[in-house]
Amino acid sequence: MLTLINPHHAEHAGRQEMFRGRLVDCHEVPDRLHYVRDELQRRAIGPQRPPEVGDAVLDAALARVHEPRYLHFLANAWDDWVALDPANAQRDALPSVWPLPQAHAFRHDRVPLNAAARLGLFAFDSGTPLMAGTWRAARAGAACALAAAQAVLAGERSAFALTRPPGHHAGPGFYGGYCFLNNAAIAAQALRDGGHARVAVLDVDYHHGNGTQTIFYERADVLTLSLHGDPHTEYPFFLGHADETGAGAGEGFNRNWPLPRGTGTAAWRAALDEALQAVAGFGATALVVPLGLDTYEGDPISGFELRSGDYPAIGAALAALGLPTVFTFEGGYAVAEVGVNAANLLEGFERAA
Ligand SMILES: [Zn+2]
Repeated sequence: MLTLINPHHAEHAGRQEMFRGRLVDCHEVPDRLHYVRDELQRRAIGPQRPPEVGDAVLDAALARVHEPRYLHFLANAWDDWVALDPANAQRDALPSVWPLPQAHAFRHDRVPLNAAARLGLFAFDSGTPLMAGTWRAARAGAACALAAAQAVLAGERSAFALTRPPGHHAGPGFYGGYCFLNNAAIAAQALRDGGHARVAVLDVDYHHGNGTQTIFYERADVLTLSLHGDPHTEYPFFLGHADETGAGAGEGFNRNWPLPRGTGTAAWRAALDEALQAVAGFGATALVVPLGLDTYEGDPISGFELRSGDYPAIGAALAALGLPTVFTFEGGYAVAEVGVNAANLLEGFERAA
């Protein structure tokens, strides 16, 4: 399996994130990627290379998924943060004020001139630090996702976008959950634009792929499916319920499997089997898998009980769909084990493909 590695990922390295009233060390650290890269190399699971995507091609792909004013915000957010106060150069940008939705009558159509307020317009949490290298890292990550889709369009059976920051919580015009650009959505849209009539996105991260769901919610050409911790108790809390089935032309083309904390292998695999049947029933001709390894029993911020030995069979089950497949690296915070678990899944896929 070809792996596209983000050469700029380490330029995004948050110092602290807000968690329940205090600033804590970031869970989403550069070593996450290093462990996966090294384990894939150790097992010789295919070549690894940086993406080769021109700026104009990348900009066009970003604009297919994200809103112009949001991309403009992201490109300038750090400079604007420092311009607000030169001392801000020493601290990550975190929002502290939000225009809550309709019930509060706050407006979303006017972009504030105050850079700190602007963070709140585009962010949905205060756990996602933005820093000097964030835009460059996120852009190069999106290039990995696009290059992975291009490789699959050119005939590769599968490709892996090994990048951070992750992407599946980022929506058309918002960031959060450590995510800025939705790499899985960018890959799915590129597969559509490359000729695949029906693309399925099957999100196996512990957390609901809210950004991906929102991006495709009113479309029938991209089926979005997510297995995740029940949002009644688990982040991102405000989306990911079973009754969210799509809207308009997209009615029936979104499905969620919210599962309780403590879910183990058998129940998780039963949900996966339902999702796999949905992909087959949809008639997908290509698949995108937002690959989070925070379903692992040792994950410090999640609550499922999957074991390292479970992941090869999960990879094999995904391969059994027989579809060209793009994987994007999402969550997984048990830092050393994330490498083994990712490699187990991808190796299981390779052997069965
Ligand atoms: Zn996650």
